[in-house]
Amino acid sequence: MNRLWAPWRKAYITHKVKIKGCLFCNALRCQNDKSNLVVRRTRHSFAMLNLYPYNNGHVMIVPARHVDDLDKLNEAELLDLTQLLIHVKKLLNQTMKPEGFNIGINLGKAAGAGITSHVHIHIVPRWVGDVNFMPALSSTKIISDSLQSSYEQLTQAHQKTSRGKRR
Ligand SMILES: [Zn+2]
Repeated sequence: MNRLWAPWRKAYITHKVKIKGCLFCNALRCQNDKSNLVVRRTRHSFAMLNLYPYNNGHVMIVPARHVDDLDKLNEAELLDLTQLLIHVKKLLNQTMKPEGFNIGINLGKAAGAGITSHVHIHIVPRWVGDVNFMPALSSTKIISDSLQSSYEQLTQAHQKTSRGKRR
């Protein structure tokens, strides 16, 4: 994987210290999905935009249950998680038209996991040349605008695809 240079992630490292409890469990308990950038909830999982993204449209797919590895999830949870991953990938394709994706899990601090106690799958859209493009967007204001815009795009795309059928 080409490393994306994301200088605003420094703010994440500073900010993280102030969060009490698990960021994912907090987001799940909170009713306001928009303020937490929660794009979609399913029976056993949810998808939220990363507040400190590696790239535009960086989403995390998270099981509702607080476990630190996939092997602690049951079959229904694993299926739900995978289906949500595929669904979000489709939404990203429709709205942002990426040229590729990095999809992966960081297990443990040594592997670069920011939150080690609650397993989550990263899905990061990629475009040719984005490694050079992203530093130009390093201002906090632009990142925040871009997150709001990604949120609107993804939730609207979901409403469009689910019109007429319930997911
Ligand atoms: Zn948790």
